[in-house]
Amino acid sequence: MARHSHEESPPNNSQHHTISRRRMLQAMMLFLSGCAVPQTQLAATPPTATPDATVQSPHFDGAIALQHAIAQMQWVPRHPGTEGWRACGDYILSQLATLGWEAVEQPFEYQGITCRNLIGKRGNGPLLIIGAHYDSRRRADQDPDPAKRSEPVPAANDGASGIAVLLELARVLKPEELNRTIWLTSFDAEDNGGLDGWDWIQGSTYMAANLTQIPQGMLLVDMIGDADQQLYYEGNSHHRMREGVWKVAAELGYSSFVPEQRYTMLDDHVPFVQRGIPAIDIIDFDYPYWHTTADTVDKISAASLEAVGRTVEEWLLRGAPGMPAPQTGDIKQYLPLIAHHCGCHRRALVAQAQLEHSQ
Ligand SMILES: [Zn+2]
Repeated sequence: MARHSHEESPPNNSQHHTISRRRMLQAMMLFLSGCAVPQTQLAATPPTATPDATVQSPHFDGAIALQHAIAQMQWVPRHPGTEGWRACGDYILSQLATLGWEAVEQPFEYQGITCRNLIGKRGNGPLLIIGAHYDSRRRADQDPDPAKRSEPVPAANDGASGIAVLLELARVLKPEELNRTIWLTSFDAEDNGGLDGWDWIQGSTYMAANLTQIPQGMLLVDMIGDADQQLYYEGNSHHRMREGVWKVAAELGYSSFVPEQRYTMLDDHVPFVQRGIPAIDIIDFDYPYWHTTADTVDKISAASLEAVGRTVEEWLLRGAPGMPAPQTGDIKQYLPLIAHHCGCHRRALVAQAQLEHSQ
């Protein structure tokens, strides 16, 4: 995930886990052995690409989502340009295709690298974009141990968890029965802002700048796997839409959704907000391992993934309460993107978002 605009960074926890280095070595061994198909040594069973409908729930299953997170964790690091990033992207595309979605790559150039957003498209009718980022942060610059700040972030929560929810949603969502088009979008180049001249949220910025139709809405999931889950309203999010989602969560009994605002984030929903598209960010920024080497798979849980995935699924089944009716007109008439996220633009944007969504 990107950065927040106010309040303190999450507290760094002194607890360290040396397991990440071992996992990195395991991942390297997998590459050295030349295997082209994703494998995992971290799970007893590999992710299920073709679930057996007779034994699996028709609803979002956190255990399956967790397998998708574990699968991604075999590749560390996964920042743009690395072998792991490429392999992880291929894994996402193959899972989407296997689960019955049209798997589309949206390439774009950034910092001399051909990055790619990965989109699973399906259905007809008004477009809803459901997104998460799949790239990881190349350096754990928030690690409490200075010696580890040059190591990559394993990114179990800040990366793999959101994609895990997307891929399990790909199994359970039936856009054709919902009478809508859904794009399950894995954003690239989100999470290396402030490092080596990189900015944040490049994939979502590119997509929002190159839309050919007006989405009805956009829903982002980021850092939602923490076993100690706390999901507060995010400040740049569309107010009625976030209320609608949080209300469904409450009715499902998920007390980790707290209908109070805590953080305001620069995240992949912001480029869509800037174009006037109703967008929300479901994010848990109270995560002590944010941008540290301890962001490992033992910190996330199937129950937390399920709380978010099941809520999004149920929100859609109920007709997406709180999301405004589809907008009509020419996409070109919508707000132009702000090219650079300097502080002044940032403050203006927040003020604008609050104004627009306060009715
Ligand atoms: Zn991050």
